[in-house]
Amino acid sequence: MERTLSIIKPDGVERNLIGQIVSKFEENGLNIAAMKKVRLSKHQAEAFYAVHKERPFFGELVDFMTRSPVVVMCLKGEGAVAKNREIMGATNPEEAADGTIRKLFAKSIGENTVHGSDALETAKEEVAFFFAESEIY
Ligand code: ATP
Ligand code: MG
Repeated sequence: MERTLSIIKPDGVERNLIGQIVSKFEENGLNIAAMKKVRLSKHQAEAFYAVHKERPFFGELVDFMTRSPVVVMCLKGEGAVAKNREIMGATNPEEAADGTIRKLFAKSIGENTVHGSDALETAKEEVAFFFAESEIY
């Protein structure tokens, strides 16, 4: 049983897509092990995406992620890390497969509706970034 972190980004929450996105995870056999709505501070967004701090889009990414609330979830299930990435689709929605969240809902490579951990090790760190062990079921 794996755990991974999912974030419904500001563009998804703003457009009232929380339920449809959560349904995608549940329909594909992932469980919502923890969930909360939070407004990221600039400091939190910079720390969360620190791996991208040298990239040209970093400032834009931090501004986007902090402009309104997000929904953070710990997803649980067999092969949850890879399964979540599959359900999300490619980073660029124009390249995302049919039926994926980004194909269905994302407007651009920047505002791409969901985040998902990219490996088991980063998933552990990212889940712990938002949730105490006692909040995960
Ligand atoms: P995420 O980490 O959010 O799940 P990802 O792993 O598919 O997305 P990354 O390469 O980690 O993609 O990029 C992190 C985020 O930075 C992207 O989801 C997107 O919001 C933003 N981003 C990536 N590339 C660009 C770009 N060329 N222009 C603008 N924003 C970008
Ligand atoms: Mg990533």
